[in-house]
Amino acid sequence: MSDLSADAAAPEQPGTAPAGGNPAAPGGGRTVTAAVPPSLVARLAAGITATGEPDLVETLAPLTGERLAGLPQSSTADVEVAYELARRAQPAWAALPVRRRAAVLLRFHDLLLKRQDEVLDLVQAETGKARLHAFEEVLAVAMAARHYGRAAHGYLRDKRRGGALPVLTHAVEARRPKGVIGHISPWNYPLELSVGDALPAFVAGNAVVNKPDTQTALTALWARELLIEAGLPADLWQIVIGDGPVVGPAVVEHADYVSFTGSTRTGRDVAQRAAARLVGASLELGGKNAMLVLSDADLDAAAAGAVRACFSSAGQLCISIERLLVHRSVADDFLERFAARTRALRLGGGLAYGADMGSLVSVRQLDTTTRHVEEAVKAGATVLAGGRARPDLGPYFFEPTILDGVTPEMAVCAEETFGPVVSVYRFDTEDEAVAAANSTPYGLNSSVWTRDLRRGRSVAARLRTGTVNVNEAYAATYGSVGAPMGGMGDSGLGRRHGAEGILRFTEAQTIATQRLMPIAPAFGLDDEKFAAVMTSGLRVLKALRFT
Ligand code: NAD
Repeated sequence: MSDLSADAAAPEQPGTAPAGGNPAAPGGGRTVTAAVPPSLVARLAAGITATGEPDLVETLAPLTGERLAGLPQSSTADVEVAYELARRAQPAWAALPVRRRAAVLLRFHDLLLKRQDEVLDLVQAETGKARLHAFEEVLAVAMAARHYGRAAHGYLRDKRRGGALPVLTHAVEARRPKGVIGHISPWNYPLELSVGDALPAFVAGNAVVNKPDTQTALTALWARELLIEAGLPADLWQIVIGDGPVVGPAVVEHADYVSFTGSTRTGRDVAQRAAARLVGASLELGGKNAMLVLSDADLDAAAAGAVRACFSSAGQLCISIERLLVHRSVADDFLERFAARTRALRLGGGLAYGADMGSLVSVRQLDTTTRHVEEAVKAGATVLAGGRARPDLGPYFFEPTILDGVTPEMAVCAEETFGPVVSVYRFDTEDEAVAAANSTPYGLNSSVWTRDLRRGRSVAARLRTGTVNVNEAYAATYGSVGAPMGGMGDSGLGRRHGAEGILRFTEAQTIATQRLMPIAPAFGLDDEKFAAVMTSGLRVLKALRFT
């Protein structure tokens, strides 16, 4: 395996591909400016609840560095207006039968699949990711729309529960909408993390005030338009944008429940503000996820899986793998295959399929990625593939990078890079691998590769992460939308998907109706007799295995 660390230090000239670097993908598709004309920006921006100047803040297209859009910013007063409008619209929506609300999600599913090219262009223009990775968002949102469109009725219907006294107490658990959900989302998966997470909130009868990241607001605004076309009353989904530390707290301030996805640092702040108001919050936060390649893994499949695990969306994926733990007996063989596949990835930014990896989203992400790699190399790590920025392709491109020899004092070892960088570690025993995988305060996602599926599931059970994929990177768990997805430890609180993903947007209400006799001394029983009868009754209920 070649060590490319020397190349990493070579000066780059824009427009010049470095020797031995990743190949450029064939161009193709429309340009960003053709795909996102000012007329489209103006139409979408009209969906923002903001009263200020129409183009106060400028966003850039990461693929080229060109100006993408000028957008207004919402003030804290605008956030209050958004809540007023949402609160006014919510009761009529909540009064509809669940099946009527669910039908909107199912229509949205069909419209999204039909008009996916429009949003693939927008996602690529705003994030710089490859079209294949933008399509993963369409896939995830369609799956969530189908699941909650079909299953919401079952999750939300009244459920009979065992009453205090059999026959005499009739108890029902009902689900009521929280009201207006404050929903704060990041830039990395702008379609999935804006509308995907909002769908269960809507179908449960809520309104939503959403603050997407300004960089990716157009994608959220497009999704809002489409959901309105599918039948959602327009005022039910308010979108506000602006400076995170100003507009974010204002969104939390008025919410009946907060759904937050973003960094662990911001998540702590959001949690404290929500706690002070005694409103609940779900927090989907960062990770430092591990993939374990066991000694009996299919190495080709594992190498291909590692490429997906580490470099999808250029590693700007909360569940992507940044630590690769490989059994020593197969490490050389595996790394040769993985590095060869990584070096062959085609980088590019055409608004068309064909590139294997796109750009980072911003100079901030590029700086963190570059710093993590450069510091590690300076301190003795070896670059097995990639290792450098690619300004010849666009301002924020960075090659998919594999580091070996990473030690605990290097930032890349424990800090989330959120870029296309993975560090390799070798292990001798399964216990050692499990301990290493669990040696981080995070606990979001992990991946285990083995030909023995039973062994894979038993290792999975020992990993302290909210999702574990056996013989897949992340898509198996994320796509299993009937099962919960989220983080343990510093990776968050609460879950999206499955029952938890929708019930978090509801309040449980128990309605119990007492018949024939009260739960108190009656029919001439004095207190002592009543206590004796109840004591016998409790013994009988246990013997009869009443729950
Ligand atoms: P971030 O925390 O900086 O921002 C997330 C959102 O919060 C943005 O909309 C931002 O404007 C807003 N915000 C900023 N300060 C705020 C404040 N004080 N109060 C309320 N809102 C505020 O995160 P980011 O850098 O945009 O996103 C990347 C992070 O998100 C990574 O750590 C990644 O792992 C995590 N993430 C987690 C998941 C998951 O499901 N667990 C999914 C995607 C991303």
